[in-house]
Amino acid sequence: EKLNITICGGGNGAHTFAGISSLVKNANVTVVTIFENEAERWAETMGKNGFEVKFKGDKKVTIAPEDVKFKVTKEVKSVIPDSDLVVICVPAYTHNIYMNLISPYLNKNCPIVGMPGQPGFEYEALTILKEHGKTNTIMSIETMPWACRIIKYGECVEVLGTKDEVCYTLVDKLGGGTKVGQSHVEDVMQALLGSKPVLSRMENILKYTFLCRPTIHPPIMYAKWKSWDGLPLETPPLFYQGVDEEAVRYLDGLTEEVTQTAAALDNKFPELGFSGVSTMKEWLIDHYSDQISDKSSLLTCLQTNSAYDGLVHPMTKTSDGKFVPDFQYRYTREDVPYGLIVLRQIASMVEVSTPIIDEIIKWAETKLGTQYLKDGKLCNIDRKSGRLPLTYGITTIEEFFQFFK
Ligand code: NAD
Repeated sequence: EKLNITICGGGNGAHTFAGISSLVKNANVTVVTIFENEAERWAETMGKNGFEVKFKGDKKVTIAPEDVKFKVTKEVKSVIPDSDLVVICVPAYTHNIYMNLISPYLNKNCPIVGMPGQPGFEYEALTILKEHGKTNTIMSIETMPWACRIIKYGECVEVLGTKDEVCYTLVDKLGGGTKVGQSHVEDVMQALLGSKPVLSRMENILKYTFLCRPTIHPPIMYAKWKSWDGLPLETPPLFYQGVDEEAVRYLDGLTEEVTQTAAALDNKFPELGFSGVSTMKEWLIDHYSDQISDKSSLLTCLQTNSAYDGLVHPMTKTSDGKFVPDFQYRYTREDVPYGLIVLRQIASMVEVSTPIIDEIIKWAETKLGTQYLKDGKLCNIDRKSGRLPLTYGITTIEEFFQFFK
């Protein structure tokens, strides 16, 4: 039987997933992107030149124009009602835009996948669905399965690396195991992705939030730019490999607050299994074991990881060809409102103090134009400014778990 798979989004991840999933035999894939004129651009270019997914090395999947098996459109109303599965593949700060657009038209058996979902996707998506009288199943995948970049819009995307394993959570309020056609939603997703990455279920939604690790980019950004004199730079500085002792102090301090929070949760709810949240150094060694040449400290793990070769700070070019930091890039715009502030509230729910997280949030406020902390307490922000549990009526750990019952 054919399954109607809808991918929402028009960026790097949407390009990669569209190319890969459309080759699966029973998948009838449609991309919906409502951003600017992306749908027209993508459809037109692909119609002329076909579509290509290039993998680092030699492997590539080249699809001639006449063989392209997926459509690209900006039409939500006509596509969503017949969708068997919707995969949202955009930065977290646009999840609410897509959820609000698609919710009125979803049929009740169509699961929604956030790929990636990141901290808080489950309660944001459930809340928006509820406002439309719906209870569709939510699957949240921790991160993008690939490191990928568009080479030519609507025509060619490059996959720089594929993860071995990624975690996901599933909230199935309807019960009954969430079928898409004859199969479970996670099996359909695995078939669409191929053999890698292996999708691995995480029962504990709160622990998943810790494993998503919104904890690496903000401290590196903060340490680098907090005392910046505002003068443009000749070249963009290295991001990971450029860290110094001060950045490590913030990375370590932040990780320490996160592991203390996990320990406090483990203490309070021993049956939920919060143990095993690793330090930043352990996490790097776990993920990049072969690529790190000096594993002696966190500093050397960052400086000598070849997977980070050439990765620089997000910068914009000035009119005279110099560079200034881009604080609207996802390292601040996504990882603070859709990451750090979520961790901050969880820490405060179990009374762990977070001076380092607070210092970084206070700095990010000045770049993002939203106040998150006042007199050491989290403010109740509006939904467009971030994904604080308290904005969704969750103020205690018990309420957090109750939300998904
Ligand atoms: P991207 O930067 O390519 O996404 C940009 C796209 O998002 C745009 O093309 C548009 O379709 C959509 N968009 C942006 N602003 C919008 C708006 N205001 N309204 C509607 N749509 C809007 O994103 P990506 O690289 O595909 O990454 C998606 C998510 O995956 C992000 O959360 C990112 O942090 C995460 N991620 C990506 C990678 C990667 O290698 N690409 C790796 C790990 C994690």
